[in-house]
Amino acid sequence: MLDQVTECSGAPSQTMFEPEAETMPAAERARLQGERLRDLAGRLLAAGGPQARRLREAGVQPGDRLGLADLPRLPMTEKKDLWDTYPFGLLAVPMSEVVAVHGSSGTGGRPTLVAYTRADLRLWAQMCARALGCAGATAGSVVHNAYGYGLFTGGLGIHQGAIELGATVVPVSGGMTARQVTLVRDLRPDILTCTPSYALRLGEALADAGNPGRSLKAGLFGAEPWTDALRARIEELLGLRALDIYGLSEVIGPGVAAECAEAADGLHVNEDHFLVEAVDPASGEPVPDGTSGELVFTTVTKQALPLLRYRSGDIASLNREPCPCGRTLARMSKVIGRRDDMLVLSGVNVYPSEVERVLLAEPALAPDYLLVVDSRQVPSRLIACCEFRTAGASRSPTTERGVSAIEDTLRDELGVRVRLHVVPPGTVPRTEVGKAVRLVTWDKGEPPVPGL
Ligand SMILES: [Zn+2]
Repeated sequence: MLDQVTECSGAPSQTMFEPEAETMPAAERARLQGERLRDLAGRLLAAGGPQARRLREAGVQPGDRLGLADLPRLPMTEKKDLWDTYPFGLLAVPMSEVVAVHGSSGTGGRPTLVAYTRADLRLWAQMCARALGCAGATAGSVVHNAYGYGLFTGGLGIHQGAIELGATVVPVSGGMTARQVTLVRDLRPDILTCTPSYALRLGEALADAGNPGRSLKAGLFGAEPWTDALRARIEELLGLRALDIYGLSEVIGPGVAAECAEAADGLHVNEDHFLVEAVDPASGEPVPDGTSGELVFTTVTKQALPLLRYRSGDIASLNREPCPCGRTLARMSKVIGRRDDMLVLSGVNVYPSEVERVLLAEPALAPDYLLVVDSRQVPSRLIACCEFRTAGASRSPTTERGVSAIEDTLRDELGVRVRLHVVPPGTVPRTEVGKAVRLVTWDKGEPPVPGL
């Protein structure tokens, strides 16, 4: 079925999970979003707590005829609100209606917990089924799900979505790569779901085992920002269509948005359930479509933990142009970075993903890398630690000339000086489970990569 879809590129997608919602005309969807926003405001006011207080302060009363146009003037929420009311202070339903919790260890080290009613779990499964449909999955698919299972939303989110779709899910979770290779060989999955860094790891292991991964047609890779340059590397390594999936536990988990196989050019946001805005990270004011800003989500249908204008911290732009797949849902660009991950080097703002884009465009370098902010001196300097590829490298970056040529490209593209430190294959730490660490600060002690 996936072959059918990718071969007739330009024709509407045959694998939409909820075609009526996904292709809904914009005006009709706006009406639905307005109704749902009014309903949400009523539920938040009734539930009490900080969101209700802020709504009242903004002049919103129960029964007000709120519309979509009112959204930018409504109060925002942020991660701090979840921390301040930890664990369940933002619940909008009695605890007896909560059937599951998830969470994240959290950027910044503090845990964030989120809660789901039975209806929330159903919605989440539907959103993940839509994402799998975006990748061309059908009821006949076998989904090799290597996202971690547990408090992290990745594993169980995709798991429920695959079941909702009627596909066969292989709940392999993260790690134990040798066992994963065996399962891929024996069960011949067509869909792979994991972080992009684990896709690389698994791809290397499959190659070492003589490429038993040829059944894979598409992959949904998320939970980490990644670039088109990494997409090209993953597609080359695994021979599949590499697509981005986006989500965050505060909004629901994976399935907030996903790329379609037809265009692979931005992720369709399920905006009938999650209203999306892009705002200036400093002022909070909306930015025009096509301009990078912080994504802000409003969960209009979620019950247990509804959030009004939640600041995601993720930087991306929005695009409302028509898509060849036929979906009318707005698209978000790939996330270019976290608001908190932005590096300021010699007064220039740089996101780690921009460094990745330049590094991975260099054929002589392997896709594993680690960025080290050397803060032992002022001003800090950025060092990119990369591995060279043993085979197929047309130009060796280990020569002094090769290294300085890449450093020149980095300076030209980013506007700052980045030192390149090339190391033998296998030197950069790999991630077996969870999100890859791509950025570390070195302020004292031993270097994070040998020989630095
Ligand atoms: Zn599309």
